[in-house]
Amino acid sequence: MPEKKDVYLGLMTWPEIENRLKESDIALIPVGQTEQHGLHASIDLDSRNAEGIAVRAALAAYQSSKPVVAPVICYGYSDLPGLRDYPGVFSLRGETLVNLCYDVAFSLIRMGFAKIIFVNGHDANPPFIKEAMRLLTKKTGAFCAMAHISEMNNSAAEEILKKHDMPADFGHACLIETSIAMAFGMQVREDKMVGHYCGKIEGPVGKIFPEAPEGISFPAWERPEVTEGIWGQGLPGPKGNPIGSSKELGEELILATIKPVVQLIEAVRDFEPEIKKNLEFEV
Ligand SMILES: [Zn+2]
Repeated sequence: MPEKKDVYLGLMTWPEIENRLKESDIALIPVGQTEQHGLHASIDLDSRNAEGIAVRAALAAYQSSKPVVAPVICYGYSDLPGLRDYPGVFSLRGETLVNLCYDVAFSLIRMGFAKIIFVNGHDANPPFIKEAMRLLTKKTGAFCAMAHISEMNNSAAEEILKKHDMPADFGHACLIETSIAMAFGMQVREDKMVGHYCGKIEGPVGKIFPEAPEGISFPAWERPEVTEGIWGQGLPGPKGNPIGSSKELGEELILATIKPVVQLIEAVRDFEPEIKKNLEFEV
């Protein structure tokens, strides 16, 4: 059975990486965030889950494709009104996150990994990862994709919440994220678990954007009326309820989450993108 050391680049020597490049050109980059996750979970939750999902997906695809996982990017974008004032919240400027994703992926492409899959564990990161992917595709010719954890396990999450008679109001330090983190070894403070349901956003924003009709979107997370309703002063931090979280639920969610990633890895295994010549680090 392959183990983490067989897929995680940070645990390999350079000759081992050189050898792996003869067998595979697929690299996963976990992207997380460091920020408050309620009273019960440590601030590394998103990074822990992104790394864990990437490693589990790479292990599941090991026999067929031998992908590798780069060391986790543990900071993301978090400058949301209402969320930024908790101790423990770090935030990169959007531009920094684009450049960080770009530079890490570029380094892998220069080594010979022609297919890059970002595994994202934080809901505010995607616009910046997408911009990094646009630049990477244009400048290097590499194949890039993003696997977004909370979208990949959304229907499994809704089913689990239904089974537990819990409302489908979740997304941050909730039963779903917390259970996955527990399966990846997080020591949660069970006696401190407190949830917070946001319900429908009432007030001016609810009136302006009652239900976004198909094809229409808005930057809701940048609206103070929305984010302060979720993470406003004096609230414990979660969006959703973590009570009832368990390693077993985490395992169930992990299996649902890695499935599309493994499918993608196997689908692109034999694809050979044409990589541009003479890729040099930008200084
Ligand atoms: Zn989170």
